[in-house]
Amino acid sequence: MGKIYDTIIIGAGPAGLAAGIYAGRARLSTLIIEKGQDGGQIATTSDIENYPGQLPEGETGTSLVMRMAQQCSQFGCERAYDWVQQIEPDGSVKKVVGANAVYEGKTVIIASGAYPRPIGCEGEAEFRGRGVSYCATCDANFFRGLEVFVVGGGDAAVEEAVFLTRFARSVTVIHRRNELRAARSIQEKAFANEKLHFLWDSVVTSLAGDGVLQKITVKNVKTGEETVLEAEEKDGMFGLFGFIGTVPNTEVFAGTGIETDENGYILTDEEMRTSVPGVFAAGDVRRKSLRQVITAAADGAVAAVQAEKYLS
Ligand code: NAP
Repeated sequence: MGKIYDTIIIGAGPAGLAAGIYAGRARLSTLIIEKGQDGGQIATTSDIENYPGQLPEGETGTSLVMRMAQQCSQFGCERAYDWVQQIEPDGSVKKVVGANAVYEGKTVIIASGAYPRPIGCEGEAEFRGRGVSYCATCDANFFRGLEVFVVGGGDAAVEEAVFLTRFARSVTVIHRRNELRAARSIQEKAFANEKLHFLWDSVVTSLAGDGVLQKITVKNVKTGEETVLEAEEKDGMFGLFGFIGTVPNTEVFAGTGIETDENGYILTDEEMRTSVPGVFAAGDVRRKSLRQVITAAADGAVAAVQAEKYLS
């Protein structure tokens, strides 16, 4: 077994990177483990306009996160690219078991984030990557000039729908109620956009097509009436983006004694302490009322400071 770190941070989104900056500055030996691209969900967010100090235009999730990662390396954080499979969190030295190696730390900060919740309709898996997407930044360009649908009514759905109008011929938001959950400022932008339309009180029940998405069946939840939307022949296909919230990345922590709520989000106190001593959680992975870059970063800072206190 190699080095025993003061703290191991699982996840390099805004929460994990903020924890890294604070832990590194506190001179804790710090390892950040990430399984993919830095940034988590923010890496696939088109515009960031509500992080304090940010100008309304010009910053993407990726550019913000790259600077955060650079700060971590300036403060001496080590990095590992690995997929965490399991953790053994009890005792004074905790084990984090990755697909490639086992890491040891005196504290662990879980910042593993969350992933997009599936729409839950028939054919969703079959048409993923063939019309169905959960990331407008990644895939908008494939739908240039086409008709696109967005499922959801929260900040993510409406903001990304507005972004998609830069590419698509028309964008229709399909929402299960007749009013949006999104913030007023986001709604105002959406209602002022001539390319954006709304299908209220509706859910997507099934998808079909010949190799690519060509038919979307939508059900009105009030009347029960089903309508089949068909892609125009000249287009050949539709785009369908799902933004209906998130599911926490906590499966691998099941059975470790780290308490979660009924939806799998990790329970912490205000100091980001979980039910297991020396294990902290930060960002979207924990139960909280506001999931934003700013609250994720704040959680990460608190978790790192508390990890330092725990160690001393
Ligand atoms: P969210 O706020 O939880 O909204 C999810 C939306 O999907 C809601 O409109 C919900 O409908 C709908 N929905 C949920 N389950 C559904 C289902 N099974 N079928 C159809 N519709 C369903 O999620 P989010 O928009 O992804 O945002 C997550 C967090 O990130 C929030 O805290 C949000 O504020 C934050 N965020 C912020 C920004 C920003 O500030 N710029 C941008 C993106 C995300 P109901 O309304 O009927 O419940």
